[in-house]
Amino acid sequence: MKKLIIGNWKLYVKTVDEGKKVLKAIEKKLPRGLKSEIVVCPPTALAVALRREYKSSRIAIGAQDIFWEKDGAHTGAVSPAHIGSSGIKYTLVGHSERRALGETDEEVAKKAVAAIASKLHPVICVGETERDADGRFFSVIEKSVKGSLSRIEPKDAGKFTIAYEPVWAIGKTEAASPRMAAEAILYIRKTIVDMWGREKAMKVRIIYGASVSAENAEGFAHEKAIQGLLPGRASVDAVEFTNIIRAFS
Ligand code: PEP
Repeated sequence: MKKLIIGNWKLYVKTVDEGKKVLKAIEKKLPRGLKSEIVVCPPTALAVALRREYKSSRIAIGAQDIFWEKDGAHTGAVSPAHIGSSGIKYTLVGHSERRALGETDEEVAKKAVAAIASKLHPVICVGETERDADGRFFSVIEKSVKGSLSRIEPKDAGKFTIAYEPVWAIGKTEAASPRMAAEAILYIRKTIVDMWGREKAMKVRIIYGASVSAENAEGFAHEKAIQGLLPGRASVDAVEFTNIIRAFS
């Protein structure tokens, strides 16, 4: 299974021109012989424009979110079909910044399954908001994984990725330690084994996100359980982002 490095640009890049510059700068510094899938997720309007320009790039473009319906009275929504027909192949779903606005595991499940049905690869974000010393956060993760995957068929185990993103470490100066991240990822794997059995569970790629940087990426790369990274801020800085990629090459 290929590792995945997927950058979440959030609203950090303001215009299509700025997006082109960032993408070009990343492309220029990209290491040869890439071993990982590389994706950046700009805001939707920019993602569509950049996808049009960068068809043959080694960097794929993803969306930051989708809605689950394909049709009907849903003003402002962007459907998986809109994204897919623009040539975009990936989308984040269930990011904590969407969940903070009220998105539930059930809605994340609807988005994930709608993405798969439209041949998009959803990266489903899960993670606890805080850690307690007694390990109760493990059951928070388990509940969110079970809820967010509830509509996905086990046969589609290879068609999505889970990003373990501890909310308390997002946008901070310090990430979770590689050990903490690996433990949570192993717990997520065990949860999927309980749901779908070992064979299917081993097909699910699980990555880490939250305050990833060029400095800490190597530590995450050394943990076998961690199959890629989801940097936010660091993904709009070409030097930082390509050094994160290098750590996984
Ligand atoms: C994120 O929000 O998905 C994220 C990982 O952000 P940052 O790297 O800036 O913490």
